[in-house]
Amino acid sequence: MFNLNDIIRPNVLRMKPYSSARDEFKGTASVFLDANENNLGSLAGENYNRYPDPHQKELKQRIAEIKGVEPDQIFLGNGSDEAIDLLFRMVCRPGQDSMLHLPPTYGMYEVSANLNEVRLDAIQLTADYQIPVEEVLLAIKPETKIIFICSPNNPTGNLIEPESIEDILRAFKGLVVVDEAYIDFASDQSWTNRLQEFPNLVILQTFSKAWGMAGLRLGLAFASAEIISVMDKIKPPYNINEATQELALQALEREEALKDMVEEIVQERELLINALPALATVEHVYPSDANFILVKVKDPNGLYNFLLGKGIVVRNRASLPGCEGCLRISVGTLEENQELLKAIAEF
Ligand code: PMP
Repeated sequence: MFNLNDIIRPNVLRMKPYSSARDEFKGTASVFLDANENNLGSLAGENYNRYPDPHQKELKQRIAEIKGVEPDQIFLGNGSDEAIDLLFRMVCRPGQDSMLHLPPTYGMYEVSANLNEVRLDAIQLTADYQIPVEEVLLAIKPETKIIFICSPNNPTGNLIEPESIEDILRAFKGLVVVDEAYIDFASDQSWTNRLQEFPNLVILQTFSKAWGMAGLRLGLAFASAEIISVMDKIKPPYNINEATQELALQALEREEALKDMVEEIVQERELLINALPALATVEHVYPSDANFILVKVKDPNGLYNFLLGKGIVVRNRASLPGCEGCLRISVGTLEENQELLKAIAEF
């Protein structure tokens, strides 16, 4: 059985969160002289002289409605990168505990583990970028506290088979983090509707991709209320700034526009997937459930530099084990994608 208190760091279990006067006072007030703000106003715009709501109540309420979860099952971070970092700090004792990830995958799991002195175990994905479940289960040690699964996976673009994730969720007594940064572009459903079933499941999503808000830095974690309350306890109090909270609330009223944008990106992705194999330098185009495509080419470094010369930047993944010979290409606008195809054809 999974028991959060068994894996949480003792100092985290013991500590009290930072609390502000606005958390403590009861009743109503109109004069706020408690937080050393500038009561004359802000040079940046109305309201920005005040600290933002540290609990992000309004935003969480709205996200809960849209995602079909409870507000207390939502953590908001300064990008999902902040949630990754906090998860390590929550359960991994520096120098003692370890995490397991499945490369080739998103690089921040490793960076954040290194920063927090979390030991790292890596099990390579199979040739078709799926999880070798038996191998993963054998690699679990008493010190293993977190397993990171990215689905759709970055940089390979594919969804991970749900049966594999389920097997790991059932067998592992630590946290299983399913990073769904690209789920809005995928043909499969989010794991959010299975939170009740798995007390050790943490789902990451972000406003940086489909919602087009990478510059505002807003990431989400969904998990049991118990896990979320600990993440909230250890987060920096004002991690989501006022402008981001306001703009996210506005964006959340535009779900139709989101759908249209996602549809267009998926359509453009399929056009690229169909067009790329005809180009002489292209050896393989991997299927994608994300807003990018992994493409194996004959001369990745040559093509990468050639495209740079044309003013087109893609991601060179050729030296990443498991992605030899590959470039990772984000899906752009129709015009940008045509420019890209034309440039590759000229190489
Ligand atoms: N997870 C994955 C798989 C990503 O690719 C990224 C961003 N590239 C992130 C998380 C981080 O997103 P955010 O902008 O929310 O920090």
